[in-house]
Amino acid sequence: MSLFDNTLKQIEQAASIMSLDKDIVTILSSPKKILQVSLPIRMDSGELKVFQGFRVQHNDVAGPFKGGIRYHQQVDMHEVKALATWMTMKCSVVGIPLGGAKGGIIVDPKTLSKRELEKLTRKYVDSIEAFIGPELDVPAPDVNTTPEIMAWIADEYSKLQKRNKLGVVTGKPLEVGGSQGRGDATSRGGYYILNEVAKAKGINPAETRVVIQGFGNAGSHMARILQEEGYKILGVSDSRGGVYSPSGIDVNCITKCKKENGSVLQCECGNDIKTITNQELLEQDCDILILAALENQVTAENADNVKAKIVLELANGPVTPEADEIFKNKGIMVVPDILANAGGVTVSYFEIVQNEMNYYWSEEEVQAKLEPIMINAWNRVFDIQKEFDCTLRQAGFISAMRRLEAKLKARGLE
Ligand code: GLU
Repeated sequence: MSLFDNTLKQIEQAASIMSLDKDIVTILSSPKKILQVSLPIRMDSGELKVFQGFRVQHNDVAGPFKGGIRYHQQVDMHEVKALATWMTMKCSVVGIPLGGAKGGIIVDPKTLSKRELEKLTRKYVDSIEAFIGPELDVPAPDVNTTPEIMAWIADEYSKLQKRNKLGVVTGKPLEVGGSQGRGDATSRGGYYILNEVAKAKGINPAETRVVIQGFGNAGSHMARILQEEGYKILGVSDSRGGVYSPSGIDVNCITKCKKENGSVLQCECGNDIKTITNQELLEQDCDILILAALENQVTAENADNVKAKIVLELANGPVTPEADEIFKNKGIMVVPDILANAGGVTVSYFEIVQNEMNYYWSEEEVQAKLEPIMINAWNRVFDIQKEFDCTLRQAGFISAMRRLEAKLKARGLE
């Protein structure tokens, strides 16, 4: 089963619970446009290499296509289709006027020099120029893509268009038209959602033990925010493995250590700290497990070993449909990606708005606008979950597809 098959399964499950019009299911099951480009790059060594890039535009009934670009050796078309579809759902769950898209290049950016990385990024923009634009399709960061890369995209597109078109991409550095608060927006949004979960379940942060898989942009900010808010962080990991201490780890120390050594692995940032694999990390004793790495991390094979009572998806697609079923039967609450990580794209939306006005908000203003959007989205999803006695993921899809159905029917399906 491909990742896109998982996405289709999620759509079908929710559609059947809400008795969604079959035509709407048909429309939402096929991305509108799929693009694959070959990107020839002269490497520093003199060798010519051809990389494969993708952009999938899933649906734009709610507004311009929107979604990140991923640089990873495991990128493939099925993955990009799944991620694009989730973007449509995510934007709809939080009710922002944007559609869904995703892009990717098959590359391990750690193997490229900075010069090669910039050439590859600019070549990708040259190849997809006709398909993107502030009113058409707006890329953003995703796995292994940084604000610096977004600045190159904005610059290259503006050069091709012969005018400043900074709103073609979000997640830019502040000096290139970025928004305050975009850097930790995914985690902050996830925190606002977790706060609502905590209220609903009567959770006290000081007594709550958290393990976080993934220490990239989303995972590291989440660890910091949760520690600041009084939660106990027991374990974290990155692609090389993890560390865990039953008495808690010091997140600031880990962040500093990872910056210096490139991994959380050798970080002595707690008492009795032990080094563990990513797989072992998922199975450690804790109350909340936050998945902030890649898709397909919790599957039918390991879901039974998860000890957390709440699983929050900051990454896209980390829990497979089979694992969802196991969690449901065990009474483990899964806070789904399309709700939990929607803070990132919501602040991306604020970035587009600020670029269009050419007028910029403070970090406090951004957070004050983000919080009610996340809380309202949670309330809608939580109400639907109670209404249909379904999972939060199913409720998230129902919430998203209700809004999409209204828009599709108002505009016409053909
Ligand atoms: N890549 C992020 C996501 O999966 C952000 C997308 C965006 O800001 O457009 O939600």
